[in-house]
Amino acid sequence: MNDPAHKSVASGPLVSDQLGRPLRDLRISVTDRCNFRCVYCMPKEVFGKDYQFLEHRELLSFEEITRLARVFAQHGIEKIRLTGGEPLIRRKIENLIEVLAAIPGLDLTLTTNGSLLAKKAQALKAAGLKRITVSLDSLDDAVFMKMNDVDFPVARVLEGIDAAAAAGLAPVKINMVVKRGVNDQSITAMARHFRGSGHILRFIEYMDVGHTNGWRMDDVVTAREIIDMISAEAPLTPADPHYRGEVAQRWRYLDGSGEIGVIASVTQAFCRDCTRARLSTEGKLFTCLFATEGHDFKSLLRSGADDAAISQQITRVWRARNDRYSEIRTAATVKLNKVEMSYIGG
Ligand code: SAM
Ligand code: SF4
Ligand code: SF4
Repeated sequence: MNDPAHKSVASGPLVSDQLGRPLRDLRISVTDRCNFRCVYCMPKEVFGKDYQFLEHRELLSFEEITRLARVFAQHGIEKIRLTGGEPLIRRKIENLIEVLAAIPGLDLTLTTNGSLLAKKAQALKAAGLKRITVSLDSLDDAVFMKMNDVDFPVARVLEGIDAAAAAGLAPVKINMVVKRGVNDQSITAMARHFRGSGHILRFIEYMDVGHTNGWRMDDVVTAREIIDMISAEAPLTPADPHYRGEVAQRWRYLDGSGEIGVIASVTQAFCRDCTRARLSTEGKLFTCLFATEGHDFKSLLRSGADDAAISQQITRVWRARNDRYSEIRTAATVKLNKVEMSYIGG
């Protein structure tokens, strides 16, 4: 693949799936827990007081994650994103970052709801994290609190973003999931706020991940609608992708005041370039965000398998992959018993 961003240090077998897609990115969920209850991800009615989260012994340890990450790096993985649940609530996450950051040729990043970022940004940077993505769905407290459903105020996420930028985790990417009738009225204010800030705001179409968020197509505000809304105020023009397979489509302000991204996972599926695998909190490998089943690597690790056996299993799983959920989404697939995003890692 002619991709300038490709800088693999792979020494093991590079493998392609059934549709010719290489393995390039790994998302690692470090916890299935979160201090937010975003309505599109962990609705309170399901993730309430009685919800059974994983026990600590069921989670992959930092040593197990690191070992898997090193074997994955030999298969051409270039980028690791730590996610969850909320990754910053996993204790001593900076210790994991420190060892992962030392793996040669790996771009290491993390997605967070920003709630603990003001406190942690310096330590994350010192541990070797290069970049960060912060989720923020509105600048309006009433709207944001309705979305996070735990009354968390906007100002504290903004403090986290400032702290990340001050620590040198820049440019900070900001993710905004748009749900019709809930926060679509916040789109232009968000665009205005982050325009010229050096941060990159990305709008994400609301997706039917998991099986508990009650997703309906009518709730999706399309990327096209979002671009039109912002362009009416500040004209935008499409920009070239940084590399093949970039998930966010880039749009630049015509007056040079920066850029935004749109992730049109519902209305303009990008499965044909999807090079991502996801490692769940308890060590199952999923080859699609919308999968119903994963492949158990924790048992393999805990049964004493050597790196060669792990490597063979990665090869087997990726070679068999033929996922393209977003391209074949129907009313029936929406109802499938898909794993939750907080567990698989968003
Ligand atoms: N807790 C962290 C956070 O919110 O940034 C990391 C995990 S979260 C699952 C990762 C990303 O997935 C967030 O940007 C979140 O907004 C996005 N997300 C969650 N549910 C979604 C949905 N139903 N549709 C689109 N994006 C979603
Ligand atoms: Fe938590 Fe992130 Fe899901 Fe919101 S999107 S509930 S912050 S894991
Ligand atoms: Fe990749 Fe699955 Fe999303 Fe398609 S639906 S882009 S295969 S994660």
